[in-house]
Amino acid sequence: MGRIGAHVSTAGGVANSIERAAALGCESFQIFSRNQRQWSPPPLDDNDVTLFRERLASSSMGPVLVHGSYLINPASAAPLVRERSVTALADELSRCSQLGLEDLVIHPGSHGGSGVAAGIERAVSTVDGSLDILEDEHPGSGSEPMILLETTAGQGNGIGGVLEHLVDIIEGSSHPESLGICLDTCHMHAAGYDLTGKDSYDEVMDRVLSLFGERKVRGIHLNDFQGRGSAPGLTDMRTSGKGPWVSNRSGSLSTTRGSRQHPWSSKHRAERACTDGT
Ligand SMILES: [Zn+2]
Repeated sequence: MGRIGAHVSTAGGVANSIERAAALGCESFQIFSRNQRQWSPPPLDDNDVTLFRERLASSSMGPVLVHGSYLINPASAAPLVRERSVTALADELSRCSQLGLEDLVIHPGSHGGSGVAAGIERAVSTVDGSLDILEDEHPGSGSEPMILLETTAGQGNGIGGVLEHLVDIIEGSSHPESLGICLDTCHMHAAGYDLTGKDSYDEVMDRVLSLFGERKVRGIHLNDFQGRGSAPGLTDMRTSGKGPWVSNRSGSLSTTRGSRQHPWSSKHRAERACTDGT
């Protein structure tokens, strides 16, 4: 079983997220490292970064994932948006490095009507552009964060409603080792991947593992679904805020009820535990 947590506020400074996550009983959690509605937010405060690292190290929680700004659209057909997305993504990666965190979750973006293939090509170039900048800034640091492409519902011109879109981005990239994925269960279900029963869930997860391999699946956003599925004509998708569940892949299901915050599960710590034989 992965480690379970929630998305936690960083109001007042990233270091404040640690006690909030602990109060919620998180084993692991996710944060925004910058104001996700601004293109150029101020840099992280050095004292805040030090405090965050100290508090995290002395807690038993982790890993901590960072969710990237919603403004970032790697697949955008608009050159200015893409240029800003490269810069913002590089900044997100650099913040992860400062905080000592390994996973940055982003949405692959929207192709704006220019077609999936063109959108995927642009998403590859945006992601690679930001990873190139990180490499130049921290050459050989050996602690490069990974970009986790999150599955989407695939509505409208969105990329990522089909798992193969994410495969194409990873395979097209010059930094495939720095790319992984995060599964959003609500979006996947809305996109037509049936997650309503154990058998259909296992079938979908087998497909995920055969496409990406377990090492690439670094997080699962356990986001429940209420509404009608089937992208691309999706018009009614919302989460009920209760009843998300997680499978540990060995067949036993657990349910988290009554939580307003959507938990998500981080898989790579579990993998390590499995490797250790625990
Ligand atoms: Zn997301």
